Amino acid sequence: MKIAVGGIHTECSTYSPVLMAVEDFRVLRGSDLLGAEYFNFLKADGVEHLPLLHARAVPGGPVSRVAYDAFKTEFLDLLKAALPIDGLYLAMHGAMNVEGMDDAEGDWIAAARAVVGPDVVVAASYDLHGNVSQKIIDQLDIFAGYRTAPHIDVRETMVRAWSMLVDALKTGKWPGVAWAPVPVLWPGERTSTEDEPAKALYTVLPEFDRRDGVLDANLMVGYVWADEPRATACAVVTASDKVAAAKAAEEIALSYWDAREDFRFGPVTGPLDAMLDIAEKTQTRPVILADSADNPTGGGVGDRADVLNALIARGFDGALIAGITDRPAVEACFAAGEGATLSLSIGGSLDPSSVPAKVNAKVLTLADSASAAERRAVVTIGGITVVLAARRRPYHNIADFTQLGLDPAAVRLLVVKSGYLSPELAPIANPNLMALTQGVVNQDIEGLVSNRRARPSFPFDRDFDYHPQARFSARWQD
Ligand SMILES: [Zn+2]
Repeated sequence: MKIAVGGIHTECSTYSPVLMAVEDFRVLRGSDLLGAEYFNFLKADGVEHLPLLHARAVPGGPVSRVAYDAFKTEFLDLLKAALPIDGLYLAMHGAMNVEGMDDAEGDWIAAARAVVGPDVVVAASYDLHGNVSQKIIDQLDIFAGYRTAPHIDVRETMVRAWSMLVDALKTGKWPGVAWAPVPVLWPGERTSTEDEPAKALYTVLPEFDRRDGVLDANLMVGYVWADEPRATACAVVTASDKVAAAKAAEEIALSYWDAREDFRFGPVTGPLDAMLDIAEKTQTRPVILADSADNPTGGGVGDRADVLNALIARGFDGALIAGITDRPAVEACFAAGEGATLSLSIGGSLDPSSVPAKVNAKVLTLADSASAAERRAVVTIGGITVVLAARRRPYHNIADFTQLGLDPAAVRLLVVKSGYLSPELAPIANPNLMALTQGVVNQDIEGLVSNRRARPSFPFDRDFDYHPQARFSARWQD
């Protein structure tokens, strides 16, 4: 029995002017794919796994058409070469946007289906911030999405999708997929599964799985920073029975709709100045301030210096900002050397609409790498330490700091470009604050330009009725 494995995994703000290129992706092929920690669960008696291509990138702006076409062409060529196969497992994010294209995952998955034909079982795993469409559902037999945000069940979810695929092939009983769109679009920061009401809505999903005829129940929050027609929340259910699938999907969809007014930010949240007022008065440490609109793991550019400028204006002493993406500034620091003082322009290197900080900085540490894109520099500006990076990246793990000789727990104020804090930073935050900053993933949802989104959609529209209506995959014949 043969299962081919591949996919493309990223999340794209259509509000970002910074297109993703081929080199922004980490690409796994062949034995590197099967050996990667991400995929090392792919072992089952009697199953041969055929690695295709898996491309994954830190979220960002839309993927350039050239990059997408290159990955898709290679993936499809490998898929054709792998035929005949029995199953295809696709590890997707679901919120990719490609330059000039709507429903990029729909395009990718439909192209894969066209290659494998109707007699192959196709399973997909998704991030719960992915956007789903009828075109996507119509290609699939099996679907599983994350049930946690912050995402601590990535591997579990992939295993859920793949296990259903193995079971389907071994038993010969092919499941089907139903879904029910919910016209609600909240950001991840309001729908963390650590906080109510999302916590309760996700906690009950395994109870749906245990119902007769249901295999796997999902609630998709969707991705709000994509102004495209498919952007929506939805329930998606993999099931062996159509009636049970429709009932579960409609119940989950209605539960999300009914809770729509109740979603709140988890931490203390407010305008940047108000959050810095709190940080200045707080005696405990570290205060961890999330610069929410420039969070690269949500699609933000990650190059903004707004918080740095605000801290300089206040003469703040004892802050660590991790980090700001600015390749020219990193290169200037490397040219100057450790210990040197230089004048730097920090910020706005990728998105010219943001205001840079003009500073005199002392180079504290240089973190070299064989690849110029991986270089980082740590600089101090008075009482403020700033990590500069040549490429877009988050600082959400403790190791991201310790590698640079920094202790995130010891500083008075740690500023990270993040929404809800990561599982490693949340426990040390004392306290956690979230600033409603400017950027391409800003939390002023009702203020987002909304030209192409399907309407009505809450909270863009508030005065409309909704009755969940399950729809089935075209694959699911009676
Ligand atoms: Zn996500």
